[in-house]
Order: sequence, then C-alpha cells, then structure tokens
Amino acid sequence: MRLSRFPLATTKETPADAEIISHRLMLRAGLIRKLGAGLYTWMPLGLRVLRKVEQIVRDEMNRAGALELLMPSVQPAELWQESGRWDVMGAEMLRIKDRHKNDFCYGPTHEEVITHHVRQDIRSYKQLPINYYQIQTKFRDERRPRFGVMRAREFLMKDAYSFHMDAEGLAAEYQNMRAAYTRIFSRIGADFRAVKADSGNIGGAASEEFHILAGAGEDLLAVSTEGDYAANVEAAETHPSGRPLPAPTAALETVSTPGQKTCEQVSRFLNVPLTGKVKLLVVKAADGGLIGIALRGDHELNEIKAAKHPRIASPFEMAKIEDVQAAFGCEVGYLGPVNCPIPVIADFAAAEIADFVCGANQNDAHLRGANWGRDCALPETADLRMIVEGDPSPDGRGTIKLLRGIEGGHIFQLGQKYTQAMGLSVLDEKGEAITPQMGCYGIGVSRMAAAVIEQSHDANGIIWPDAIAPFRVIVTPIGTDKSPAAKEAAEQLYQQLIDAGVEALLDDRGLRPGPMFADADLIGIPHRIVIGDKGLANQQFEYKHRRADKAEMIPATLDAVLAKL
Ligand code: ATP
Ligand code: MG
Ligand code: MG
Ligand code: MG
Repeated sequence: MRLSRFPLATTKETPADAEIISHRLMLRAGLIRKLGAGLYTWMPLGLRVLRKVEQIVRDEMNRAGALELLMPSVQPAELWQESGRWDVMGAEMLRIKDRHKNDFCYGPTHEEVITHHVRQDIRSYKQLPINYYQIQTKFRDERRPRFGVMRAREFLMKDAYSFHMDAEGLAAEYQNMRAAYTRIFSRIGADFRAVKADSGNIGGAASEEFHILAGAGEDLLAVSTEGDYAANVEAAETHPSGRPLPAPTAALETVSTPGQKTCEQVSRFLNVPLTGKVKLLVVKAADGGLIGIALRGDHELNEIKAAKHPRIASPFEMAKIEDVQAAFGCEVGYLGPVNCPIPVIADFAAAEIADFVCGANQNDAHLRGANWGRDCALPETADLRMIVEGDPSPDGRGTIKLLRGIEGGHIFQLGQKYTQAMGLSVLDEKGEAITPQMGCYGIGVSRMAAAVIEQSHDANGIIWPDAIAPFRVIVTPIGTDKSPAAKEAAEQLYQQLIDAGVEALLDDRGLRPGPMFADADLIGIPHRIVIGDKGLANQQFEYKHRRADKAEMIPATLDAVLAKL
C-alpha cells in the first residue's frame, strides 16, 4: 500500500477523553474513530489489525476442531424468557421491539440461540460432542463505556459453545479450549495469565479468564509468587490468606451512620471526598470481619465512580457488588434489600428501603435485618484492605502478588444450566434421553487489539507485534526532491516485497524525514527501511526495528531485507 493512497489520520494532540494509553494511541494513529458513547468505527489501518487478531483466533479454533457458524445479532425475547435470563440481564441488554411489538434484544451473548439450534438439530449421541463458534458483533449497554474499544458497547467477540454427553466430555473440551486459548494469546504476542474466575450471570461451575497483564487493566489478580495459584480477586471464595467466611450464625453487630472518623477513613480508602449527608452502612460479623458495606447520601454517584483507589481495579462504582467485593475483600458476598435477587447498591440511594440481607456468598449464610439509621461506628480495626501482597498463597507456595489484567478471554463449564432450562435432550446408546453438558468460551477480539497496545508501546507510539501489525514493513525514501535514485530504489524494493507476499507500506508522500519517521513510529510498523542517496552510493539500505534504538546498514538487496523481517 502506498501512503499517498492510504490517508493516515495521525495527530499529535492527545484526545481529552482518552484516559489510557491504548485509547490515546488508537485515536492518534487513526485506527479508530468514535461515533458515539462506546461506538467506534474501525478505520482501514485499524481494521487490518482487527482482522489479524480475528484470523489468529479463527485458525486456532479451527485447529482445535470447532466449527464456525454465524448467528443473528438480533435475538427473539422468547429464548431469553425460556432460559430465565430476560429478567436477570438488567440494563446491560439492549431491548428492542419490532413493528409487530414483539420483543427482541441485540445479543450480548449467544447461549440461548445456540442451545435452540442444537435442540432442533442434534438428536443422538452420535452427533456429539460438537463445538460451534462465531466471530460476531455483540452489544452490551455498559454502564460506563470507556477506554475506547476496550470497554465499548458494540464490540467484536469470538464466542464458542460446546455440547457433550457427559461431564467428562465437557471437562476434556474445556482443556482443549484452554490449550487453544493459550496458543491464541501466545501467537498474538501478549504477555498473559490464565486465572480462576467467577462465572457471573452466565452460570455454571468451572471457569477461567485469560488476562493480558497491564497496569491499565480493570481486574485485579492474585497470583502466587512460587506456586500455580492465580485467581481474579472476584473469584476467591475464601480470602487467600485463609481467613474463613463469617459463620452463618454470626450476629449482626453494627449498622451505622458513621462518625467523622469513619467517614475520613472511607474517604481515604475510596480516594473521594465523602462530605454532606453521606451515610455509611456497615454490617459486621461477630468475629470482627467486615462483611457488608454500602454508601448512601446526597453525594454525586459520579464522584464515587470517578474515585480511584490503588487497590481497586477500576474507577470505583458502588453500584456493583463485585466492585465492593474487590474493594473490601472477598467476605462481601451479598448486600441488598430482602428478596431482591440482584443486589444493586445504586438503588439504595433512591429507595427508602430497610431490612437488607447481608452475608457471604453461601447458601443460608445471609444475615437479615440490617438497617439504616442505627447509630454505631466502624471500629478502628475494621479491615478496609483487601487481598494484600505478601499474604500467604492458598496453595501454600510462596506469597500473593497482585497484578492488573485486562480480561481478553473467558472459558466456562456451564453444565446443564441452559440445556435443561431450554429442554435440550439427546438419546444415548441405550436410547434413553439425557440432558447434555455445555461449555462456552469467549474472546474479546476487538478488546485484544487495544490490550496489546497497553503492553507494547513507547513514547513515540505503538509497537505492533509482527503477528498483528497492520503492515510488516515500511519503505521510506528520503531526499527524493534532490535526486530520483532513492525514489526509484524504493519503488523497486516495494514492488519486490509485494511480489514476495510481504505486507509492505511505501511512504511515497515526499515529506521531510522527521514527519515520515514520526508517523511510522506512531502507527507502530515493526520494520523500517530507509533509502537515501548516501546509502545507495555504498549499495546499502538503512534498517531499523521499531524497538531498536539505532538503525543499521544492510546490503541494498531484497534478500537482505527479507532476512530482517
Ligand atoms: P468484563 O468483565 O470486562 O465486563 P465480561 O466478563 O462481561 O467482561 P464475557 O461475558 O466473559 O465478558 O465475554 C467474553 C469476552 O468479551 C471478555 O473476556 C472480553 O474480552 C470481551 N468483552 C466483554 N465486554 C466487552 C466490552 N464491553 N468491550 C469489549 N470487549 C468486551
Ligand atoms: Mg461485563
Ligand atoms: Mg469479567
Ligand atoms: Mg468474563
């Protein structure tokens, strides 16, 4: 591709609303353009990266024996009512009506749709196991779309769904997918870690996330310094230091309107000024462990959202129980109004409700009767920390180290949750009907492109790993206004590279070297060849890897260039 025909939309300015480096660089390099909150257009240069990620994912899924299909993004409500998730999904699911007033959603995920197809087509054990996947646009009306394509509302996901006659079959396919994910993340060039995960509202038992390690990551991971223990802090059922969950019989001890001191303590913790009529509800187990906390008052929820704490993976949102859990340690399992199936703390600000239930995420471990307005203070000793570095690792090997990660992929053993709810049954060898086991496996294709930039950039711009670079090499002739030789040599090399099947860019814009090099660095092309009269006089090109400090001279031949790529 010639840059004279491929308008780069690079800018020096840092966009004001871009908080993290990948978002800034993707905008500055002209890879993406914003259309609305959480809605992005992939410009030609960015789309080349996205397609590369997609192709690596597709290759490895095919190699692992999964079958590609494509399901509609708009899905009938009936399927979600059958699975029971129509009412559970909440505001993240975009609901739409057609002209006949029938309900639909724009798919945030596809468990229901695939289970529907499988119950129609698969009747016999002879047709199982099977693993279907697609690479499809999803829509999730994220509470706070941010970080560009990293947390968008419309995004590209690879989602796979497998069906099995028994739990052993599911466990084997889960391992197969785990291996495929390991290959995918390695090929993309990411520094990653697989960690134990919470299975959220998708349901099921075993689950792991694949995290790209980066300081901007919204998730906090607890990993052992010496052993294999690695978990998203959301997923640790017990505190990694081994502190047990509060006993189900623990008495409610404190429900508070905080004194000044407590307010300051929490303020400091959240790194947000809590002034005015803020109320703090603290429910504490008899053994002294903190098990529930909520804020209510006339503070702006936005202030809370904007708050940052070094130990909180994301700007703190009081509206998510997971965040509270992450912030205050794993003991916070549930805090919500009685009989409310989903604890949404934001509601507390609006409703004059009482009698919260509170407790650890355990059956029958809930405490009832927590209430506003009873006076007592958070004890000085209250443990407002969460998992702390240096805690002993639960596997007994080494201590806990905290890392930040960007969730790039997530694999689940769902079991029979959907197959049962949606009446999928298959005949076994004896002709008896069984309910198959199901697994599901997602990768955020569009998120991955951004996540890699978080790991791979410098002050001048992006540094693409070869595997997902939009172009592999850029050929830059300099001094072309003085003599035609460099221009001709560059044209010739460019043509030879194209003929050799190399994705090459030719910077034929005739700019001064500075701006051309700056663009090449910003858009992150891994290899650069500079051709000038001086080098040509010695039959040499100048070669520089994007990561190298200095350029080197190489023979002015195609073979010498290919040897570098
Ligand atoms: P998160 O915790 O970041 O909200 P999730 O757990 O809700 O992600 P999954 O349901 O596990 O996401 O979906 C599979 C993958 O889709 C995720 O691992 C992630 O890479 C990607 N993904 C999820 N939400 C978004 C989003 N809003 N924008 C871009 N990618 C996303
Ligand atoms: Mg999510
Ligand atoms: Mg997640
Ligand atoms: Mg997930």
